[in-house]
Amino acid sequence: PAEPESPYRVVLMGAGGVGKTAFASIFAGAADSMDSDDCELCVEELCEKEIEVDGEPATITLVDMWDAETDEWTQEQCMQTADAYLLLYSITDRASFLRASELRITLRRFCPARYTPIILVGNKCDLVRRREVPTSEGRACAAVFDCKFIETSAAMQHNVWESFYGIVRQLRLRRDSR
Ligand code: GDP
Repeated sequence: PAEPESPYRVVLMGAGGVGKTAFASIFAGAADSMDSDDCELCVEELCEKEIEVDGEPATITLVDMWDAETDEWTQEQCMQTADAYLLLYSITDRASFLRASELRITLRRFCPARYTPIILVGNKCDLVRRREVPTSEGRACAAVFDCKFIETSAAMQHNVWESFYGIVRQLRLRRDSR
């Protein structure tokens, strides 16, 4: 398949309750009223926005349509059309971590290109006392799955933008390595 051009289609995946909606809100600027005009196309599950990464503009279309009720056909469509994935779990919920592993394996079947950027995202890192998944375990899992790893807190707006920047950087690396 051809190299993706910006807009990059980035899909949020993960078990229910891990923070996908919170990520999408931050991206859309809902948590920052000064930014809310920047979102050109915001419907319930889709938001397109231009951001600047390393001095260069990039447009991301963020897709947040993943939940337990999403039917298989829609999930497959979702996976087949994505340029990159943010694979979320909650550090307070081991089941969501296991779910992320399962989704990673499923993704392998659908990745349209040989190498599609995936970042494993351990969200809710502000909830220190409720942590069930150690950072080291998340990192080890990402190494096995051959993807990047980041811990975030949507509640504290910590590292959320970093995860989007990371996706853009990986897509550019791929573009530039041609
Ligand atoms: P989704 O089902 O994956 O879309 O998850 P949501 O974004 O709806 O989040 C589920 C719940 O977790 C909500 O009550 C959020 O406010 C909360 N939440 C999301 N991210 C964080 C976070 O980083 N820290 C904390 N403490 N709560 C969070």
